[in-house]
Amino acid sequence: MLEILQIPVLEDNYVYLLHEPGSGATAAVDPAVAGPVLEALDARGWRLGHVLNTHHHGDHVGGNLELKAATGCTIVGAAGDRHRIPGIDVALKDGEEFRLGSASARMLDVPGHTSGHVAFWFEDDAALFCGDTLFALGCGRLFEGSAEQMWRSLERLRALPAETKVFCAHEYTQANARFAVTIEPGNVALRERVERVEALRREGAATVPSILSEELATNPFLRPESPEIRARLGLPGVPEVEVFAEIRRRKDVFRG
Ligand code: ZN
Ligand code: FE
Repeated sequence: MLEILQIPVLEDNYVYLLHEPGSGATAAVDPAVAGPVLEALDARGWRLGHVLNTHHHGDHVGGNLELKAATGCTIVGAAGDRHRIPGIDVALKDGEEFRLGSASARMLDVPGHTSGHVAFWFEDDAALFCGDTLFALGCGRLFEGSAEQMWRSLERLRALPAETKVFCAHEYTQANARFAVTIEPGNVALRERVERVEALRREGAATVPSILSEELATNPFLRPESPEIRARLGLPGVPEVEVFAEIRRRKDVFRG
């Protein structure tokens, strides 16, 4: 079983340290910066073997080279982004496996936020590291991909086991919640979740990870089939991708 340590860095990023106690194997997911990662490793006596990058943005790869210099770790990322992941050593393709001691992840291509965005899915640990593709109550902006691409990626994540823990890379949940209630105000599960999110944030606690089942029930970006959302957006009977695209457009201009 993996031990997962969540390290808040910068304004609202999360870096994750994954440790497989049987072998001592340790990996860092999306190290925006190196310092806090090195401190956490030091405090636990863990030795970093790998960095896993979900995509090339600076707030996900910023610590790569310093960590590599300090620990000699191997950097793992998407084959398609080989040219822009600093220090990349291992380029994985869709569906390929990454082993961390006795734990293992499948790398899933989930483009949309960027063209080479990937997620790491540790099936046996029910843990998904999805970077900026799926957020708690939200999804990533479409910087390099189309709505069609992002929707296909989210459909892929939506099909994972409902008990999967969603370790996204940002604490954006409260702002996402303010938008979500404008899209599906009649969703009771959403209302209840928003209250929980607000209570957690008042205490300065993390709202991440979430569980995929609660995203399915409350995240508007995963709910384009919802009759309430369709009625509200005036889009009855259109394909799900068109409803998704409209929700994404509205979020882009939303000022909550
Ligand atoms: Zn990003
Ligand atoms: Fe980011």
